[in-house]
Parts: sequence; C-alpha cells; structure tokens
Amino acid sequence: MSQEILRPLNLTEALQFLAAHQPHARIVNGATDLPHEIAHGVRAPQTLIDIRLVPDLKFIREAGDFVQLGASVTHAHVLASPLLAARALPLVRACQLIRDPQARERGTIAGNVAGALSTNLTIAALWAMGAQVVLKSVRGERLVTFNEFFKGVRQTAMLADEMVYAIAFSKMSDKDRGAFVATGWSREDAQANVTCAVVLEFEGDEISNAWITLGGVAPTVVNAVEAEQALVGQWLNDAAIDQAAELAMNVVVTDPDKIETVRVLVTQALREI
Ligand SMILES: Cc1cc2nc3c(=O)[nH]c(=O)nc-3n(C[C@H](O)[C@H](O)[C@H](O)COP(=O)(O)OP(=O)(O)OC[C@H]3O[C@@H](n4cnc5c(N)ncnc54)[C@H](O)[C@@H]3O)c2cc1C
Repeated sequence: MSQEILRPLNLTEALQFLAAHQPHARIVNGATDLPHEIAHGVRAPQTLIDIRLVPDLKFIREAGDFVQLGASVTHAHVLASPLLAARALPLVRACQLIRDPQARERGTIAGNVAGALSTNLTIAALWAMGAQVVLKSVRGERLVTFNEFFKGVRQTAMLADEMVYAIAFSKMSDKDRGAFVATGWSREDAQANVTCAVVLEFEGDEISNAWITLGGVAPTVVNAVEAEQALVGQWLNDAAIDQAAELAMNVVVTDPDKIETVRVLVTQALREI
C-alpha cells in the first residue's frame, strides 16, 4: 500500500515530485481505477502524486489538425464538449458507454489510457483517430504514438519520472464518419469485453481511408489491417461491410471465443456509419 500522498499545486511541482520519488511514485487523478490496481497487486506505489489540484489540465483545444485533451479531462467533460461531438464521435460514443456516474464524473481520459487495459473504452476510439500521448517530465516533453505507447496488459512506454500531460488526436473532418461499439460487460467490474472503433474517410461516395481498431482481443488494441485495406476504394454497401467484417476476423486474437464477436461488432459499426 502507499505510504504517502503528495498534492502538488502546479505542474512543475508535480513533475519534481515524480522525479524525486521515482520509481516508487504513481500519478493519481480521478482515483476510480488506481485503488483497484493496487488491490490486485498491479501497482505498489509508495508515493501517490494526486494531480487534482494542478490547474490548467482540463483543456479541450484544437491545435491545427489535432485536438488535445489535458490530463484532467474527464469522461463527463468529453460528453459536454460540442467540439468533440462534431470532431471526435467515436470518443464521445465510448464515453457514453461508461455507465457508472462516478466513473464518468471523476474518471479521466488520461487515466483510462494510462491504465492500459485494451478493453478500456477510450483507447480503441482514440487509436482509430491516430492518437498520441504527450508525456512530460522534468527532462522535457515527448510525443509517443499509441502504437509505441502500449506495450502489453497494463504496460506502457511511460518512464517512471513521466506523466501523461495530454492526449492528442487527429480531429475528424467533414469527409470522415466514425462509430464506436462494444459488447460483453462483465458484472464483476462493469468493463467491456470487446471494443471496436471505426473511422472512414470518404471522397464522394468512395472510401479513401479506413481505420478499424479492436480492443479486448489481444494484449493491446489492434488494427484490423486487412479489413481496412479492403474497404479503401469501395462504396459502403452490404457486400463491402460483409467482406470487411469477415476479414476483421483474421486479426490475431488471444481468445478464439471472441472471433465471432469481432465480426458482429465490425458489422454493427460499419452499418451505423
Ligand atoms: C464503478 C466503475 C465503473 C467503471 N466503468 C468503466 C467502463 O465502463 N469502461 C472503462 O474503460 N473504465 C471503467 N472504469 C475504470 C475507470 O473509471 C477509468 O479507467 C477512468 O478513466 C480512470 O481514470 P482516473 O482518472 O480515475 O484514473 P486513476 O484511477 O487516477 O488512475 C488510473 C491509472 O492511470 C494512471 N494515471 C492517471 N492519470 C495519469 C497521468 N496523468 N499520468 C500518468 N499516469 C496516470 C494511474 O497511475 C493509474 O495507474 C470504471 C471504474 C469504476 C470504479
């Protein structure tokens, strides 16, 4: 169990605390997941650095073609944002599926991402929009793609003196359409079993780019690459949807029982679009 809780009042102090107490320190924000991690022996920090009092981390802002979400943006903030409703529909849909009111109000997107379970609802949604993690430490800032960030179940490329400062992703344009679906909530922890996000870019009626991401089928979220490639150049009709859903079943899954769920979810997401 943790021995002490530090409550920095600004970002510089938070980073200094992390540097001074690493590798036995851990950032905590909404605290909707960390107690669960500690109880299950996933983490054993001696020092918790609670960043809830750090100002200026609740930003949802456009930066060129990207949207940035600060470390203290919660699921509820996402649901209340007109910008995200217009430019990040898969993320909004993912947050709508977080049913527990406390998890919605207090749980952060950064905490969901840093928790690094591939079923965590926002990860596949953000991944389909080309998300990157902005990591900060006293040494400076670095940008890591989701592909590089996630290393395995609850494992990331974040170093012991780093924290997630923001999540950045490509905002969807008027040519893009997106969807997010998930299934299989277990009663025990109210988590989804398989998640699926789709973003399609259209030139007229033709699909010019496709991103299909799946959570809960492998240690990290995976792209259904064959299905993505098959959609490019096609119209989104029944035949294209059926073909993509069949090809999505070729992703490497840890649990073969989930293959049929992949087909169903990819079909559902493409039909929504
Ligand atoms: C009843 C209940 C229902 C839930 N339902 C869902 C659900 O349906 N879907 C779902 O995906 N999740 C669900 N969760 C899990 C949880 O609410 C989310 O994952 C939440 O987004 C975590 O955010 P947090 O700020 O509370 O993280 P915390 O609990 O504070 O931290 C979680 C992890 O992230 C790390 N962390 C947090 N912020 C940072 C940061 N800025 N930099 C570095 N590391 C950081 C912590 O060290 C810890 O390892 C549920 C939780 C509860 C209790």
